[in-house]
Amino acid sequence: MARHQKTFTVGWLYPDLMNIYGDRGNILTLLKRAEWRDYEARLIELGRGTTKGMDEVDIFFFGGGQDREQALVYEDLIEHKQPPLERAVAAGAQILAVCGGYQLLGHYYQTGEGERFPGIGMIDVRTEAGKRRFIGDVIVDADLADITPPTLVGFENHSGRTFLGPEAKPLGRVRTGFGNNGEDHTEGCLQGGVLGTYLHGSLLPKNPHLADHLIRAALRRRAITDLAALDDSTEIAAHENILARARR
Ligand code: GLN
Repeated sequence: MARHQKTFTVGWLYPDLMNIYGDRGNILTLLKRAEWRDYEARLIELGRGTTKGMDEVDIFFFGGGQDREQALVYEDLIEHKQPPLERAVAAGAQILAVCGGYQLLGHYYQTGEGERFPGIGMIDVRTEAGKRRFIGDVIVDADLADITPPTLVGFENHSGRTFLGPEAKPLGRVRTGFGNNGEDHTEGCLQGGVLGTYLHGSLLPKNPHLADHLIRAALRRRAITDLAALDDSTEIAAHENILARARR
């Protein structure tokens, strides 16, 4: 079915397995913010073994998951999802990937026990688990030109240390928290239509400006650049509260 000018479709990868620390809130935020701009917002759930409707998706969401869940999805990701995902992103769709999902879009994720789950290499990053888990609030100074405020806030809980290769650039720099690897002060990754991050929480309810960045990027192929302004006073107050808490 052709993409209708007034529909906005979110594709949720592995909703039954890759969905922790409130990741579902990202789906609700994307659908609501599209609806509040008079789009008919639709959700397509893309569990293991299915790819139906992936060519209609504007934004894919790939949430986090413990090593056990990542072990259950990586083969399906390579065998079934990779080709239609690459086609969709080449055609202008966007991907928001959090933590375990972010890791599996890279070259590989290696567990603390040394088991390596191959990724699909859509982003030039590699991840290896360390002994200590990185847990806590995160504040990021983001490298995105079209967002105000220029900060992102969230919560991280991961053992993986992610290192970016030359093709990938960081989403931003951590002001508070560990971010990609607790060493180079970077957080997340931007490459092509993929935005990867370690920020759970969930991310988008407290960062409505990032949700709009993703929606705008997904609408670019329809030559739509403007989004009607929304009253984000509650969301931004929650955002500011995290910033203030970190200053105390
Ligand atoms: N299992 C991965 C890690 O520990 C991802 C965890 C997550 O998605 N929160 O790093």
